[in-house]
Amino acid sequence: MNNISHFTIRTSDRRTFRRCLRKWDFQSSLRGNWQHIGTEQNINFWFGSAIHFSMEDYHGENKFGDPRKAFWAYYQAFPADELPMGAEAHYELGMAMLSYYLTWYKRHNDVTGFETALVDPETHQLFDPHKVKKTDNLEYAVEQSFILPLKAWVAVDNNGHIHDAYFSEEDIPDNDKLFNMSIVPIYYHGTMDRIVCDKYGRYWILDYKTAKGADTNKLDTDDQISAYLWAFEKWFGIQPYGFIYLQLTKEAVQEPKRLKNGELSVDKKQKTTYSLLKQEIINDYGTVNAAPDKLIQFLNHMASIESPEGDRFIRWDFVKRTPEQIVSTEEHIMGELHHMLWDDLYCYPTPTRDCIWDCPCRDLCLALDRKDEAAINEFMQNFEQRPRDEDGNLDPWRENIPWPEKLAAEGKTVPELDEILALDECMKIELESRASQDDTDGFKFMYGDEEE
Ligand code: SF4
Repeated sequence: MNNISHFTIRTSDRRTFRRCLRKWDFQSSLRGNWQHIGTEQNINFWFGSAIHFSMEDYHGENKFGDPRKAFWAYYQAFPADELPMGAEAHYELGMAMLSYYLTWYKRHNDVTGFETALVDPETHQLFDPHKVKKTDNLEYAVEQSFILPLKAWVAVDNNGHIHDAYFSEEDIPDNDKLFNMSIVPIYYHGTMDRIVCDKYGRYWILDYKTAKGADTNKLDTDDQISAYLWAFEKWFGIQPYGFIYLQLTKEAVQEPKRLKNGELSVDKKQKTTYSLLKQEIINDYGTVNAAPDKLIQFLNHMASIESPEGDRFIRWDFVKRTPEQIVSTEEHIMGELHHMLWDDLYCYPTPTRDCIWDCPCRDLCLALDRKDEAAINEFMQNFEQRPRDEDGNLDPWRENIPWPEKLAAEGKTVPELDEILALDECMKIELESRASQDDTDGFKFMYGDEEE
């Protein structure tokens, strides 16, 4: 008899389903359910997970006291021979990005007053951290997993294969007509990076993204934003106010460049920010107005390419959905699930130029078309089936994190910051931009108390 208690789908499954049926057939928990054995070897996923862990600790229990120390701990959790290619360079990049994040966040968050919400893990009730103190019974609302029952059940045989699907409880056949199959419910699963409460006591979902460049065109149609806003109300029992999409660009911020004669450069290609440049101008000339015209023009240029939501390195966007859009979201989820459970669904490949980087089963895909049994078998040696009853992401590396208390028990401590920072510039940026923390670069929290 199979021991499957439930199936789960996630937004990523839905995206894969729409991207390529063959890839979905390989990965989905409803189908092959295969995952790569061992440490994540895709450097982008590995790095994204590092940034998420650093934020989870910093905005949660804050055991490390600094997200860069948490990042260091994440790196230590992997044996050197299991680190993905490029991990070392990404360590330096991560340290630089987090150093800038600390100054950016302080400056922008002063206006919104976001604090990590508190949650009762038993009841999922949320509490405003501006009013309620953290106790042992409450958790910081970071990495909040939800698992919501969908109106869908499947009949599963002893080998775990799905046969029939039912979208209403009345349609589920009686036991004597199931012929040794069991009925398994389907759930929607996801993890919210952080839930914050603003200075007006309203709850927002905050999600971190690391990418080559910030993308804001997709926010109105982004299905993860819609699904999470839909799920929030069902899981926590209250309406969220909105979604904060915080994008960290994978680039190290640099101090404003200087020419050989020591003057500030007006090179538009330099990777710096308005506030860092302004601070350097004030350091050099006392006030912005006392600076040469070309520098003032360059400063204006830097202001023009930044927006109240952020700069080219970090920005956050505030996104809302109407109640009608939330209803539509549920309709879309159920519609896709209907398609996923078609019993004669033929999972054909959808080759695109992205296959080379976005598909972990590309070699299998090629071998399948060649009908090359030997290559198929060789490929499958590196894959294993995910535990069928998992409720969330399994992160084996978490067991190897050198938490401060774990180190203390061994008579060790977390190294000091200057030991773990790979780049001297990280510290400089943080210290020198601290002087401009009062300067919010014109950022205004657009969602005032009076709205609605
Ligand atoms: S290589 Fe492309 S077409 Fe083949 S399974 Fe992967 S995504 Fe689909």
